[in-house]
Amino acid sequence: MAAEDNRATQTASRAELLDGARAAAEIKHDVAAEVKRLQAGHQITPCLAAIRVGDDAASAVYVRNKIRACAEVGIRSEHHALPNTTTSIELLDLIASFNARGDVDGILVQLPLPEEIDEASIIEAVDPAKDVDGFHPINVGKLAMGRPDFVPCTPAGIIELLERNDVLLRGTNACVVGRSQIVGRPVAQLLLQRDATVTICHSKTNNLAAVTRQADVLVVAIGRPGLIGRNHIKPGATVIDVGMNKVTDEASARVLFGDDARRRIAIIAKQGYTLAGDVNPAEADEVAGRLTPVPGGVGLLTVAMLMRNTVKAAKMRRGLS
Ligand code: NAP
Repeated sequence: MAAEDNRATQTASRAELLDGARAAAEIKHDVAAEVKRLQAGHQITPCLAAIRVGDDAASAVYVRNKIRACAEVGIRSEHHALPNTTTSIELLDLIASFNARGDVDGILVQLPLPEEIDEASIIEAVDPAKDVDGFHPINVGKLAMGRPDFVPCTPAGIIELLERNDVLLRGTNACVVGRSQIVGRPVAQLLLQRDATVTICHSKTNNLAAVTRQADVLVVAIGRPGLIGRNHIKPGATVIDVGMNKVTDEASARVLFGDDARRRIAIIAKQGYTLAGDVNPAEADEVAGRLTPVPGGVGLLTVAMLMRNTVKAAKMRRGLS
């Protein structure tokens, strides 16, 4: 992901592109200012402890990006990279030690974990007050009740992008394709709390296009490159593409990228893949009113929102507002 540049945003476009890079930079700027205030006023430097287990290459990149973002905004970080052979007990012990430490504000366990480790029990072991990913059942429940402490970072970033671009949500039809715990379900809750009328679709939805075509705001998080095309999109709709898929062959690149195909094929030749969302950008561009690019859209906001959640945890734990 890190290797690919974002010049897709420069190609001629009929749909307005929602710029994740600018929003992420603004959020990180605000977080950095808040960290400085905490240091000056309260002698507090927020700290994020990140845990990664095994040798999944994508996870290594994600954690590295998060650690780098911490340095950018002045958050202290610890990166614990554990071997594939790590047992559940060892991982639970490490989490318990972070829960107990007064100087650790946020705990992040990068998913997926190796198959032998039960993810649910690990997520539940994290102190909800330090659960900056917002995955603990207590934080999931609070979000469902409409009074969240920690909102999962990707859904929070999606809402941030919509609101910063003055996309109307109240009274509109919003459709979320995908019902995962980390994206689909929480983003549907957040849209509902902003008075959208929300429909959630998934792999068993009948006639998906007929449902998605009703949506003024369409959020797609399925993990299938380019599955959402022109027939799925209501003319003028705002389309948020959460998907992050590696495309490695020229033929798919031609189908997906339209005017941008030649540049994308060159990227494949150089690094072996190019990133595609779950929305066909060439087709969406003809129909949508606004669209997030991939890369350069939602992905960048996820890390920015993690920074914001870490500072929030540091303040909440100390009773600061
Ligand atoms: P996930 O846990 O695999 O869930 C995928 C969801 O899509 C499921 O609810 C599934 O339905 C649904 N689905 C699959 N095929 C479908 C189809 N043909 N029609 C309609 N629904 C379909 O995925 P996830 O973790 O939410 O991630 C989704 C995508 O977002 C991936 O590409 C991932 O890499 C990306 N992502 C990006 C970020 C970011 O920061 N940008 C963060 C997280 C994820 P069922 O429930 O019926 O199986």
